[in-house]
Amino acid sequence: MKYVAAIDVGGTSIKAALVSEALGVITTSTAPTPQNDPSGLMTARALAAILSELELVHHVSAIGFAVPGALDEEHGISRWTGNLGWRELPIKELVSREVNLPVAFGHDVRSGALAELRSGAAKDFQQSIFIPIGTGIAAALIIDGKIRSSDGYAGEIGHLNVGHDIPCVCGLSGCLETISSASAISREYEKRTGFAISTKEILGRIRSDDHAWQVWEQAIAYLAVALEDLITILAPEAIIFGGGLSQAGAALIEPLQAILSERLTFQRMPQLLIAHYGVNAGTIGCAIMALDLLAKETA
Ligand SMILES: [Zn+2]
Repeated sequence: MKYVAAIDVGGTSIKAALVSEALGVITTSTAPTPQNDPSGLMTARALAAILSELELVHHVSAIGFAVPGALDEEHGISRWTGNLGWRELPIKELVSREVNLPVAFGHDVRSGALAELRSGAAKDFQQSIFIPIGTGIAAALIIDGKIRSSDGYAGEIGHLNVGHDIPCVCGLSGCLETISSASAISREYEKRTGFAISTKEILGRIRSDDHAWQVWEQAIAYLAVALEDLITILAPEAIIFGGGLSQAGAALIEPLQAILSERLTFQRMPQLLIAHYGVNAGTIGCAIMALDLLAKETA
């Protein structure tokens, strides 16, 4: 049995797992994502440190890691990520230099989609959209059974203009992720009440706390605006939600379902689903990328 290190580099934390060939998660590890690291060096070293930790449990045969933002996946380059502050950064090469193992590289959202498509909630659909909602929001577009990214640029729906005036890291205002992401929900609640609490805690209060309810309702309403555009353009059979916010389950799906049923006329209503791998979809996808790389090398 071979084991791989699956490492998902998010805006705030690096989530890693030691995963077996059978996609069993043996152990996990989390570290904060280095901030102010435009050279990517601290991030590459953080990945190497996590790898050494996982290697204590079992020998690792390959690494699969994923990062957010616009990527050139083929050449291992991060073209742009707002949350990590990278521009044209050869991150795959930087990581390869730090670790003496085969390295597979991908996009955090598309790696999650890969996991859902191979063996999760997207496996029975030819047309679907995978949308993890956490620090940011992005989408992986599955069209005709394949994950499409248009040279790595497509799917950055967190920067769709949904019509409000909050400024965004991209330099504009009105972006979906500054109002509907998990971090935006916490920020908005704090702005209204002065209390900094997690999105999970806010969700726990939506029936008893008017501010929590209003912040949640607002986030859902703007998310529905973006979904309506996506449905009209791409006609997915299913939309699959992942990331931290997907843990809301029915509190996320039911109001979206209600708004969309009212707003859509001729369009096909997609099934709204929660990711099979939940918040771990990205990590499982990284493991699949690493295992695919090993299979290709031994073929
Ligand atoms: Zn933006």
